Amino acid sequence: GYPVCECHNCFGGPDCSVLSPDCPADADGGDPLFLEPFWIQHAASSAILVAGWHRMSYTFDGKTTISKELEKSIRRVHSVAKNAITDGRYIVFGVGSTQLLNAAVYALSPENSSSPAKVVAATPYFPVYEIQTEYFRSVDFKFQGDANLWKNRSMDANVSMIEFVTSPNNPDCQLNKAVLEGPSVKTIHDRAYYWPHFTAIPAPADDDLMIFTISKLTGHAGSRFGWALVKDETVYQRMLQYIQTSELGVSRDTQLRAAKLLKVVLDGDEREIFEFSYKAMSERWEKLRTTLSMLRGRFSIQEIPPQFCTFFQQVRGPSPAYAWLKCEREEDEDCYAVLRAANIIGRKGTRFGVNNRHVRLSLLRSQNDFELLLNRLRKLVSEEDGAK
Ligand code: PMP
Repeated sequence: GYPVCECHNCFGGPDCSVLSPDCPADADGGDPLFLEPFWIQHAASSAILVAGWHRMSYTFDGKTTISKELEKSIRRVHSVAKNAITDGRYIVFGVGSTQLLNAAVYALSPENSSSPAKVVAATPYFPVYEIQTEYFRSVDFKFQGDANLWKNRSMDANVSMIEFVTSPNNPDCQLNKAVLEGPSVKTIHDRAYYWPHFTAIPAPADDDLMIFTISKLTGHAGSRFGWALVKDETVYQRMLQYIQTSELGVSRDTQLRAAKLLKVVLDGDEREIFEFSYKAMSERWEKLRTTLSMLRGRFSIQEIPPQFCTFFQQVRGPSPAYAWLKCEREEDEDCYAVLRAANIIGRKGTRFGVNNRHVRLSLLRSQNDFELLLNRLRKLVSEEDGAK
């Protein structure tokens, strides 16, 4: 038969429920498998079958590489979630939002300038901004670290700067705002987590250049599909040129799958995926908080104040994608090692441009991964109690 799901990590057996005893709790990557149960509930309606002859062409209609139907669904899903203004915006598709991050840097960098645009992000920041910007080694842009260190220079009209603003932020899930302003400062708003799943939506985002991804909306990270909402036509054209030059557009198969998934999200009860996700993520956060509180001050996690959400039309509590954990004991300078000794794999603070007092724990992985994480933390609690 056809397996209902693939076993993750250290789980095996016919229904993936047998755990190997020494397996570490993996709270490292941002794989959004918490959404898997939602799609199991919608298995039939979300399935696609593509005949061999279908969609063989480079284009949809002899001209464009962008599905108009998918574009319409994207605008609709934003209007349902109330998380972004799409009126008067162009849409560019990318191979995940990862590809669009560099497409945006390219499009916002000055051409033929004697000095490259300075690309910055406030710490702690998502590591890919630095890795990608350095990897592509362009004469037009250069990564320059923490945005906070450039506040004095940013009013200088001769200094071109590009700030990545991640809101909610990865790793600490705060609703960040740009830290730089000035005549030659451009911003890229990475809105990967700006969905009711992970944050209150105080108002629809209205930034000049916003980047979203299906990875964190429906959970289909492996399909590699993201989009940018772009106000300025020239910036839009340059981003499009980047995508066309490097990839001739996003795979038509990927677009077909994304369109199907969004159709399931939008047909019927269009609030369902948001309610499911908020419930799942907020319950996880509460469980984590309760467990950590039993460790009495050994670790702390970020505070996320309750806030009015225009999607839920009420004040709502936190449901972040990650816990940004800090080791509070003086001797626990290497917080990653402290957790590793407890058989938990997090992601080191140094990866996000800060020291190793912090570790990021992923909360959006599969239910099994999350429960294993809780179990390992509870084991720490019982060891501490036993030591008294
Ligand atoms: N931006 C942020 C802030 C992210 O956390 C991620 C994925 N972890 C991405 C962009 C990239 O996502 P993708 O390429 O899957 O769309």
